[in-house]
Amino acid sequence: GMSKEHIMEIRSKNINPMTSKITYYKKPVFIHQGHMQWLWDMDGRRYLDLFAGVATVAVGHCHPKVTAAVEKQLKKLWHTTNIYVNAPLHEYCEKLASHLPDPLKVIYLTNSGSEANDLAMLMARIHTGNYDIITFRGSYHGGSQQTMGLTSQSSYKYPIATSSGCTHTMCPDVFRGPWGGSHCRDSPVQTIRQCSCAQGQCMANEQYIGQLKETFAASVPSRVAGFFGEPIQGMGGAVQYPKNYFKEAYKLVREKGGVCIADEVQTGFGRTGTHFWGFQGYGILPDIVTMAKGIGNGFPMAAVVTTPEIAASFAKAYHFNTFGGNSVACAVGSAVLDAIREDGLQQNCHHVGTYLMTELAKLRDKHKIIGDVRGKGLQIGVEMVKDKTSREPLCPQAMMEIFEDVKDMGVLIGKGGLYGQTFRIQPPMCITTADVDFFLAVFDKAIH
Ligand code: PMP
Repeated sequence: GMSKEHIMEIRSKNINPMTSKITYYKKPVFIHQGHMQWLWDMDGRRYLDLFAGVATVAVGHCHPKVTAAVEKQLKKLWHTTNIYVNAPLHEYCEKLASHLPDPLKVIYLTNSGSEANDLAMLMARIHTGNYDIITFRGSYHGGSQQTMGLTSQSSYKYPIATSSGCTHTMCPDVFRGPWGGSHCRDSPVQTIRQCSCAQGQCMANEQYIGQLKETFAASVPSRVAGFFGEPIQGMGGAVQYPKNYFKEAYKLVREKGGVCIADEVQTGFGRTGTHFWGFQGYGILPDIVTMAKGIGNGFPMAAVVTTPEIAASFAKAYHFNTFGGNSVACAVGSAVLDAIREDGLQQNCHHVGTYLMTELAKLRDKHKIIGDVRGKGLQIGVEMVKDKTSREPLCPQAMMEIFEDVKDMGVLIGKGGLYGQTFRIQPPMCITTADVDFFLAVFDKAIH
């Protein structure tokens, strides 16, 4: 095999430096192999993977059932494009549709979350004849030039390339307040009254909903094409919404002629535990659902699911992609859905996630730098602060030290939030309570 030195040499010469910017660690981990919730580096050291390649390895690394399905399909047929009718695509779409409520039954397969959201944006505009799109502040919906417009986080935006027609109009962050707190570097679309504690936690749900209506009246165009919302913000740091907030947002969007799009890229496929889709946890029914990441357990695939009506509008236009519906991807997708059911992974997310949340809450009460613990199922955020009164985000240096220590003790976690202040736990959905105990001991020690 290749030496680490050789790998680093290639990295400096042949790999775009953007890749290293994204790499989290000071001392990089050289991942070599994976099995279920475990990863091994080139020195044979084992890590508990609590980030799953950014919430993507849903059923486990090299899950035997999924691996067997890929092997079988690889020997039969790889690719045809949608020009030809092929069985795996239809088998898969029937199975995926059975996991969605009526009338969300019509599927278009793509290759990444960005591509899915890009396409959902196109469908919304074609169907409504309107142009403007609304998203929540703090959201992440992709890095393509169109979805960069949807994404609110300023670090992922490039003024010269960001598409127009997107308004980030509401910020439902209950911990930091309506606009992400006084430290927010993403300045608000318009200034709006903050609650007196300046952090928003003292605000009642009705006040949040009142502000939502106010911002909608003040800064949203009279006609909109659609609204994108992650049921729980992923990159934003497991941000959840006040009760009925989503329901109200859907109502306001529909009053302006728009369609509602649930970005289930991180929340889908049982991760929230109580439901298969995140939107089901709010009692809402979107018009379009986009999904990626967990859909393929690490295989590049994604999907846009919509109603027959919106699908018919879209079919009036002309659209093509080469790889969507690839036969191997469809075989993977089918095996992933089977594995989620057979391994009881949605139930496991609920069971292990509830335990993890309870135990993390104890750590929050013990340590002054843990400000908030939130999330649902196995999408959990631990927001770090300088102290609980100011709620000023913990500085990047301290975040990095904890992060690095946790890794050196054998656990990989993620990071997110507007200031990089939130640790994220979004593991393969097969982790156990024993794994949680291991992580908690490591995390406690690292914070000390
Ligand atoms: N939507 C959400 C909620 C995401 O978290 C991401 C990726 N982090 C995307 C869309 C974009 O997906 P991809 O990176 O596959 O293009």
